[in-house]
Amino acid sequence: MNERLPAPGGLALVEALVNTVDLGSGRDELDTPRARQRLGIAEDDLDAVRELRESLRATCLAHAGHPPHRPVTPLGDLLARAPLYIAVDPRDGSARLTPAEDGPLLSRVAAAVAQALTEGTWERLKACELPECHWAFYDRSPAGRGRWCSMSVCGARAKMRRYRAKGA
Ligand SMILES: [Zn+2]
Repeated sequence: MNERLPAPGGLALVEALVNTVDLGSGRDELDTPRARQRLGIAEDDLDAVRELRESLRATCLAHAGHPPHRPVTPLGDLLARAPLYIAVDPRDGSARLTPAEDGPLLSRVAAAVAQALTEGTWERLKACELPECHWAFYDRSPAGRGRWCSMSVCGARAKMRRYRAKGA
């Protein structure tokens, strides 16, 4: 349902994780070994990853000015548990937060958030406002006021609903 380009940098990982479940149908890609492998998730971590996924979605909704879609663990509480270290490039002295090698998904997500903060992209990762969708998308609109993952699908649906509500 996403006609958009993937989110930039490490945010693509965050976006991909949030979008592993279709809230409308309940179909969860993390039920398949292929998706778990693609994201580097151990089966023992599945519950924690699903918790992280919904905390991320709630944060993406907050970026768009919406309340959480359901009660979630605050994202900051989860990320506080992520082992990260600071990698310094000896050639130019640049430094960045890095997950431990083969670190858990939580660490890779935390590093992606840190990177997005420095790049000023974090708050542009949003969730579609349609309740049956809430798909993550990267808002590339100049004013940063994108509301739907897809104008042609969710945007059109929202407009149709408004139109019907007015007519009633
Ligand atoms: Zn949508």
